[in-house]
Amino acid sequence: MPPGVKLVAVSKFHPIERLMQAYDAGQRIFGESRVQEMVQKVPLMPADVEWHFIGHLQTNKVRQLLPNVSMIHSVDSLKLLQCINKEAARIGKIVNVLLQVHVAQEQEKFGFSVDELEQIASGTDDLAVSNVRICGLMAMATNTDDEAEIRSEFARAHAVFEHLKHGAFSGNSSFCELSMGMSDDYPIAVDEGSTMVRIGTTIFGEREY
Ligand SMILES: *Cc1c(COP(=O)(O)O)cnc(C)c1O
Repeated sequence: MPPGVKLVAVSKFHPIERLMQAYDAGQRIFGESRVQEMVQKVPLMPADVEWHFIGHLQTNKVRQLLPNVSMIHSVDSLKLLQCINKEAARIGKIVNVLLQVHVAQEQEKFGFSVDELEQIASGTDDLAVSNVRICGLMAMATNTDDEAEIRSEFARAHAVFEHLKHGAFSGNSSFCELSMGMSDDYPIAVDEGSTMVRIGTTIFGEREY
């Protein structure tokens, strides 16, 4: 991975022994997509692991997730952002989050539209979300073999990121991460300006669901 690009080892569905192998090889950031599974794994791993939550998050799971999570990549609604803020305030924590931007053609992918992000960015003060630290954006490309399509979606995410970073979020020095790229598309994502890749299969092999 080029310097400046962080690796999130996506360990969902893999047993602790496999996570420990990666840990022993020096990996410290692990990504999980189900709250229950993450919460079970946390006490079984060394305390210096940074746990990132990357899956679709329901508001009724936020309370359980917050104490151990160091970044939530998948904030895809205002309601969820406000719920995270409220729970974070309750336990006296500031939670790092990324806002998920919808750039894929697939309708079923989650995330904010560019317009919605603009609104959130310009209204963060009014939203009073002082217990969340908005650290950047997360994007997922369409699941396709069409590399040109994937590249154009990542390029669009990057353009939106730069636009917000130098515009509505310019007063927020934490707004510096662009999480994009998975096993099949991370080289394209890194080319297009990703600062954080989320890789599971290439590290751990196929998942057994
Ligand atoms: C599972 C998952 C990944 C990792 O996918 P791989 O193809 O195994 O690398 C990355 N991001 C999200 C949001 C995921 O759910």
